[in-house]
Amino acid sequence: MTAQIAIVGAGPSGCYLAQALLKAQPDLQVDVIDKLPVPYGLVRYGVAPDHQGTKGVIRQFARLFERQGARFIGNLAVNEQISLDDLRAAYDAVVLAAGLPGDRSLGIPGEDLAGVHASGQLTQAINEHPEAADLPRLGKHPVIMGNGNVAIDLLRLLAKTPEELEGSDAGPGVSAWLAASGIESLQIIGRSQAGQAKFDPVMVKELGKLAGVTIRVEGAGDSDDPEAAKKLAALAVIDGHGTGRRLVTFRFGLTPVALEGRDRVETAVFRTADGGEERISCTAFLTAIGFRAEGALERDALVAGAEDAEGGKLDDGLYATGWFRRGPRGTIPENRADAQALAKTILAEIPAEGSGKPGRAILEGLPDLVSYEGWQRIDAAETAAAPEGRCRVKISTRARMLALSKASEELR
Ligand SMILES: Cc1cc2nc3c(=O)[nH]c(=O)nc-3n(C[C@H](O)[C@H](O)[C@H](O)COP(=O)(O)OP(=O)(O)OC[C@H]3O[C@@H](n4cnc5c(N)ncnc54)[C@H](O)[C@@H]3O)c2cc1C
Repeated sequence: MTAQIAIVGAGPSGCYLAQALLKAQPDLQVDVIDKLPVPYGLVRYGVAPDHQGTKGVIRQFARLFERQGARFIGNLAVNEQISLDDLRAAYDAVVLAAGLPGDRSLGIPGEDLAGVHASGQLTQAINEHPEAADLPRLGKHPVIMGNGNVAIDLLRLLAKTPEELEGSDAGPGVSAWLAASGIESLQIIGRSQAGQAKFDPVMVKELGKLAGVTIRVEGAGDSDDPEAAKKLAALAVIDGHGTGRRLVTFRFGLTPVALEGRDRVETAVFRTADGGEERISCTAFLTAIGFRAEGALERDALVAGAEDAEGGKLDDGLYATGWFRRGPRGTIPENRADAQALAKTILAEIPAEGSGKPGRAILEGLPDLVSYEGWQRIDAAETAAAPEGRCRVKISTRARMLALSKASEELR
């Protein structure tokens, strides 16, 4: 016998952890469970469709299932189809790598108005997540609130011409939505000053390649701090870029205090850095201000009661990694260090030969589980259907994914 480990979540942190565990102890039984029929979490459903280079990490993760012996078990929501307690009883260790899927809210009046959309929901719709809401109407003058990389992703996508989506995996519905948006201006607004913005300077510089925009940066200021200076330098590079018809404006130091409108949002009210008020007209207000726990796993209570939250140990035989452990911060590669440290802890704590628990046998009989081969069939169908100028067309409904995952040879 060998120890059996269940990892809940097949996003980057779950995959990096499985990789680290199997590298250290190749005979371990590692099951990577995901509530979706497909693996890779936000690499598939968060990373922007026009950043295929970033999505390339999937090739590395595929080796985990194809060569290192990890098993993918998709379409199984923990604490919905199977309880966390049952899973813990069956495995020597259970690791929660389930991310943080909820959008943080602004907590200001008017937030519930039509035309106000949070970035998590919106990026899920853009990435054709099976549970995503419909793509919203944004009107001619959307405002993006937030200064992190997700805000910049949204800005870039909304500012692109149809030709600039070449090579992406934006599906026909998303491509048509972007092409027909009719956006004339886009304002991106940060609460903090420009030097303290959260975006990566590389992401800002990339905007300097956009063809259909004119970019203005207002009130970025200057700073002696080296990190702030890098951000300011990136903003200086794009300030004044282009003569395109879409006007993109960066603003800083504006704290939203209310959203107003009759049937839908029309005005965003801000407090300025000097305590004054500024009112900005908008046809949609998109918030990209971070993520929080949501869903069946009761993350906040588990982390609050953790034996060693910092080290990723929640309880005996129960661990956490990635965004689920440390909050919604950090890029895909940053989950790797987390996973490597946690793998060491787990391997030091569980018996290498296992304790004879049933492991994946308790999953037998659960309906509609998707194996890695099932995912490969979905993947093959998506890439085979890609039209000219796209690298795949995502299947966007769970029912179709399940049908494909079970497809017999002739349906492939
Ligand atoms: C919109 C967006 C864009 C981003 N773009 C980039 C980028 O370009 N480059 C970059 O480096 N980083 C990017 N990031 C950050 C990066 O995505 C995260 O660092 C990383 O995905 C966190 O990994 P994770 O495995 O902890 O969580 P996730 O990727 O969220 O994976 C969690 C997985 O757990 C599953 N799950 C959740 N609940 C359950 C349950 N109850 N049972 C079973 N499974 C469950 C989910 O389906 C999901 O597959 C982006 C993040 C967002 C939100």
